[in-house]
Amino acid sequence: MSLQDEVQKRRTFAIISHPDAGKTTLTERLLLFGNLIRSAGTVKGKKTGKYATSDWMEIEKQRGISVTSSVMNFPYKDFQVNILDTPGHEDFSEDTYRTLTAVDSVVMIIDATKGIEAQTKKLFKVCRMRGIPIFTFINKMDRESREPLDLMEEIEEVLDIETYPMNWPVGMGKQFLGIFDRQGKQFIQFNGNEEENSIPYEALNNEEHAELRSQSSYKVAKDELELLDEAGDSYSLDAVMAGEQTPVFFGSALAPFGVQTFFDTFISMAPAPVPRKSTEGLIQPDEEEFSGFIFKIQANMNPAHRDRVAFLRVCSGKFERGMSVKLARANKVIKLSQTQQFVASSRDTVEEAYAGDIIGIYDPNIYRIGDTLVSGKKQFDYDELPQFPPELYKKVTAKNVMKGKQFNKGIEQLVQEGAIQLFKGYRNDARIIGAVGELQYEVFQHRMKAEYNTEVMLESIGERIPRWLNEDQLDPSIFDERSMLVQDREGNYVALFKNDFALNWFHDKYPKVELIDLFESN
Ligand code: GDP
Repeated sequence: MSLQDEVQKRRTFAIISHPDAGKTTLTERLLLFGNLIRSAGTVKGKKTGKYATSDWMEIEKQRGISVTSSVMNFPYKDFQVNILDTPGHEDFSEDTYRTLTAVDSVVMIIDATKGIEAQTKKLFKVCRMRGIPIFTFINKMDRESREPLDLMEEIEEVLDIETYPMNWPVGMGKQFLGIFDRQGKQFIQFNGNEEENSIPYEALNNEEHAELRSQSSYKVAKDELELLDEAGDSYSLDAVMAGEQTPVFFGSALAPFGVQTFFDTFISMAPAPVPRKSTEGLIQPDEEEFSGFIFKIQANMNPAHRDRVAFLRVCSGKFERGMSVKLARANKVIKLSQTQQFVASSRDTVEEAYAGDIIGIYDPNIYRIGDTLVSGKKQFDYDELPQFPPELYKKVTAKNVMKGKQFNKGIEQLVQEGAIQLFKGYRNDARIIGAVGELQYEVFQHRMKAEYNTEVMLESIGERIPRWLNEDQLDPSIFDERSMLVQDREGNYVALFKNDFALNWFHDKYPKVELIDLFESN
């Protein structure tokens, strides 16, 4: 198969959602399609806290590294699917955001009973900032949910993106009858646990469907559908690819209902790997030379295993195990022999990979997040990964002042590695570390102790809204506790606002001071 064919069949995406919206349940369905698991309910018995046995769990056990469902890859029909996990709950961290720099599209799951929730909104902002195509799956239609039109309106307003319903639900909860498939021009009947039954639009008027037609929810849905046809956004593949319109699917991951149709449509519409920006211009995915970048480094929390795994997204060419690559930043040539593919049927050593694939490479402490690896003669770096705005802030000090040197070294390295972000107080030299999720503090504290033999004390400053400032507009006297002035690692000035109120108050009082939101400026 040609390099171009290999690239064209790859679909690399992440599923974003708020905890409990149904990400695990949907992912399991997809793994079932890919024959990676044999029955649902095996990925994680979250409620019982038990982990079940699937291939990558074994990898995790053997290596003592948590790669739990980090990346799942499997062939499906004519495609090679790569699903990247975006950990939520207590595992939410900057890595979750960075993962989104390594995908070509995103599936956003929304719980139909709840609508848009906080974590979905945060992850969506990253997709928007990167211009990633977003496909929406509105889940749990088998429960009493919110009105579909309300949900559409909420997506459009809160996320500021056009919607195009690919299908439209008829009823919900106990009265959930099925969906109108707008593309396929058919009605797909929900039969509980039974097979889905599809009726072409033209057959709907037949005598045998009289009962269906007489249901009030059917009539309502039909009216809504007409309204959408007339007044809704029109479908535009270009807008979808630009991340300006999201195709919306209704269904139930648990039933399951509408999942297969959703997945088949999504997989055929979703983009294959696209060219990526570098210091040498755009690099085509089917270019001969192998290249890729590291978007995540997983250090081992188990002191008996100091090894680390760097997650590399292949961007061009063909990866072959044992090949030599250049790491321009460190001016090093490295032989990639210890590599790992995460869930590839039963094998866990990757022999070859193409643009879109994610491989795990053994990291003897040389890689940094954002590093580019290239084979052959060319030399370039992919665009730097964006800096994401942290939400949580804590002052950090060493428990034992005598450990100052180790403390500084540890912080310096962990910051460089991207484990946390470092800020410095403007008026004092307080060190403040910013994180996207609590987990980052735990990892930080643990690694400072395990690797730098330094116990650290953390004092919370709470959640803050960071806004970057233009240095030439800076008047330090206008900032106070509610708009704490700090500097980031590069010396840029940042105001940490206590809440929306403080931010708006400041903005009203000093309208000329530009307040830069990293989500919008990257
Ligand atoms: P995650 O936190 O996003 O991974 O969510 P899970 O997949 O673990 O689902 C959270 C809860 O919602 C579980 O109890 C699921 O059984 C339930 N759930 C998921 N999808 C559906 C659905 O389509 N319908 C209903 N009724 N429940 C669902």
